[in-house]
Amino acid sequence: MNINTSKVAVSRSQEVNASNIQFGKTYSDHMLIADCINGVWQEPQILPYGDISMSPATTFIHYGQSIFEGIKAYKNEEGEIHIFRPTDNWKRFNISAERMAMPHVPEEIFMNGMKELIALDKDWVPNIDDCSLYIRPFMFATDEFIGIKPAENFRFMIITSPAGAYYNKPTKIYVQNKYVRAFPGGIGYTKAAGNYGACMLPTMETRKLGYDQILWTDGYDHKFVQEIGTMNVFFVLGDKIITPDLSGGTILAGVTRDSAIKLLNKKGYTVEERPLTIDEIRESFYKGELKEAFGTGTAAVIAPISELFYDGQTMNLPPVEEWEVSNWLKKELADIRYGRTEDKYHWMYKVC
Ligand SMILES: *Cc1c(COP(=O)(O)O)cnc(C)c1O
Repeated sequence: MNINTSKVAVSRSQEVNASNIQFGKTYSDHMLIADCINGVWQEPQILPYGDISMSPATTFIHYGQSIFEGIKAYKNEEGEIHIFRPTDNWKRFNISAERMAMPHVPEEIFMNGMKELIALDKDWVPNIDDCSLYIRPFMFATDEFIGIKPAENFRFMIITSPAGAYYNKPTKIYVQNKYVRAFPGGIGYTKAAGNYGACMLPTMETRKLGYDQILWTDGYDHKFVQEIGTMNVFFVLGDKIITPDLSGGTILAGVTRDSAIKLLNKKGYTVEERPLTIDEIRESFYKGELKEAFGTGTAAVIAPISELFYDGQTMNLPPVEEWEVSNWLKKELADIRYGRTEDKYHWMYKVC
């Protein structure tokens, strides 16, 4: 595949210090663009990062045919750059695309395009522990048409942004029993833009009450737990590790979730993927068996929970320093990503 590349005259990478950067505000020198016109993918281009112009009638602005992914690239001690499990994100991107009546992005465009883009902007991948280059692939409908119908033209893009160390202050969680994030038959299992727009108001209200994130529950009677914020969730109850199963189509199949399950199982823990109710969590809490609770996702990796508020009651968790499962998991994932331990699962995709 030929990628037409137009490079910046002078890189801005030296101006950036990843250790004190605010996430999502600074973008690397280049971006990738590939258009799909009437079902035919055009040759991708790599261009200097910058504004794109479009008609005010562009369909995605009005009707939300828009999806994205989130991936990270890491620099190891030898200075090599690897991306964490990007093929899994490519597959998931196409699952989202299908649900939103959008075309599949060919592997060649998604994977080779990403590889070339990261190789070109390799100086943007921080070589500081806990830092990475965040990769944001996305696609939106570009028809200039405000009639409601599935679009015929789409644009796929990738932009990247250096990400500093994510300080995982333990979060206070509010168990949501009014709003719903996802319902069977809906789009909860996709990274569709509208999912996030719909969560802004509930999250704002939760913050006003003094909590950091929402634990989403099912839409029938708010009993079965789904996810926290935009992360998958794990609970350590007694000697069991439990995470909600994906069968209902209401939960995003996180790559970090899958990695956590595989690593924990290999370590000898048993991870149960099954329906889990807030009542079961509360009973465990009363028995003194609610040991750990954490979110998993590409941005925060492992986000510990310090308390859960449900139905007028606060459940406090033990201090994070005492947590055996998630502290081990966090270190193991970091060691794989920075090349400090053997990559037994071949998760690290080499760029250069
Ligand atoms: C992206 C996302 C996750 C985490 O997925 P990862 O692949 O681990 O980053 C979980 N839940 C939601 C709703 C998400 O959007």
